[in-house]
Amino acid sequence: MTDQAPLVDTTRADASAHVIEVRDLVKRYRKGTVNAVDGVSFDVEAGQFFALLGPNGAGKSTTISILTTTLAPTSGTVSICGRDVVDDASAVRGQVGIIFQNPSLDMNLTGEENVRFHAILYHLYPYRPLYRMMPSAYRHQLKELADVLGLGPELFKPVKRLSGGMRRKLEIIRGLMHHPRVLFLDEPTSGLDTASRRSLWQYIRDLRRRHDITICLTTHQLNEAEEADQVCILDHGRVVAKGTPRDVKAQLVHERLILDAVDRDGLRRRLRELNVPFRDDGALVIELNGRTAHEIVRSIEEPLTVLRTESPSLEEAYLRILAAGDE
Ligand code: ADP
Repeated sequence: MTDQAPLVDTTRADASAHVIEVRDLVKRYRKGTVNAVDGVSFDVEAGQFFALLGPNGAGKSTTISILTTTLAPTSGTVSICGRDVVDDASAVRGQVGIIFQNPSLDMNLTGEENVRFHAILYHLYPYRPLYRMMPSAYRHQLKELADVLGLGPELFKPVKRLSGGMRRKLEIIRGLMHHPRVLFLDEPTSGLDTASRRSLWQYIRDLRRRHDITICLTTHQLNEAEEADQVCILDHGRVVAKGTPRDVKAQLVHERLILDAVDRDGLRRRLRELNVPFRDDGALVIELNGRTAHEIVRSIEEPLTVLRTESPSLEEAYLRILAAGDE
């Protein structure tokens, strides 16, 4: 559907504002003895890729359910695109797309019917009783999404006859039909094979570039969060780390230098003389802790057979943060 130009164009003003604002969010379930979410605050800017991470039970799903208006907070405030999730829930729903883990498809309808009814519910297209009678814009949009995810004739089969992976793809197609400004993805690639996973991520990247969509992801696949603009790690309902993946890694895990020499004993002696702590792990591993590799290497005269630096992964930083919390 083509919208008329709005009288007041708020897009520019919105662009600098936070698309998601979470302040001191608390949720205690009725029978809970502790807060499932315990004073969480974060902001996400327009077009950002934000990843919410944490182990099972950390409070990710609870947070996302509040952000997407399906669960009421105990206290604190959340606004999405400037609208309060409690006072203005229906406006928020129109701005968000949700791709959740638990499928909510109607098993007796075909995949296409599930998508069509969703599109009609969101007033995207007028209702027609058959697919072939739907506007060509609808058929075109559906085909584009189905191609990306590799769904073909399965679209027209009852959902109950589709595999788990295909149902997941359908959920994703449905969540993207109304061009949401903010897309919530809860473990979006679980149950997808590597090829579909890759093409889904490629599509999400394109969406962000072309439409400035804000992405809010929860995942256990830490490598999927490496590209995020901002990550927020939750544990026991609290924020334990927040920032760019680079910042989060730098706070906890330093780069290391890997060295080896034919005369490894000589190299060990040299490092001890230089007061450089190392660990013997096949080659000699030195945690840089803020020093540069050059500072260390220039004082070594032994001919080296291995010389490289290694950056930690987000997963390493994540595991250390959680281990520190358990100590
Ligand atoms: P995550 O998504 O990070 O795995 P959840 O948000 O699902 O974490 O859960 C956070 C905490 O809230 C957990 O301790 C969980 O047991 C509890 N919890 C989740 N849903 C309910 C519920 N409906 N009633 C009571 N406690 C719940």
